[in-house]
Amino acid sequence: MRIGQGIDIHRFSEDPHRPLVLGGVVIEGARGLGGHSDADAVCHALSDAVLGAVGLGDLGRHFPDTDPVWEGANSVGLLTEVVRMARDQGYGCVNADCTVVADAPRLAPYTQAMIDTLSAVLGAPVSVKATRAEGLGALGRAEGIACVAIVLLEQL
Ligand code: MG
Repeated sequence: MRIGQGIDIHRFSEDPHRPLVLGGVVIEGARGLGGHSDADAVCHALSDAVLGAVGLGDLGRHFPDTDPVWEGANSVGLLTEVVRMARDQGYGCVNADCTVVADAPRLAPYTQAMIDTLSAVLGAPVSVKATRAEGLGALGRAEGIACVAIVLLEQL
């Protein structure tokens, strides 16, 4: 068995047309996050957790944000690739747990869709929970969104 954890944070974008994508789900009517890819903090945290579990470094090492190839990249695609890399190392996912810290927007209506999307990618149960920063700090001022993820892998 291997365990890994990941954390990611993105600030909200100034671009009013950028969609908010979390866990592969588009959150309707919400301001998007800034970033080189689609800025899906949930997929990024989960990808880093999987990479960490198998000792393959971090997402930036494999998909550098200086490379134009990954501009606007679909992060579900990146996560799919990371899961494949773990499988190549002989490990499959057992389960994962993600906590999204967002004071805005309200994510409860979208968590089940995120769970369904991410569980399909990992081929294992994924939990997605949302919490608020209660007005404290940058996250509490709704300047961005963070996600913490933990994943358990087993040797195939
Ligand atoms: Mg990120």
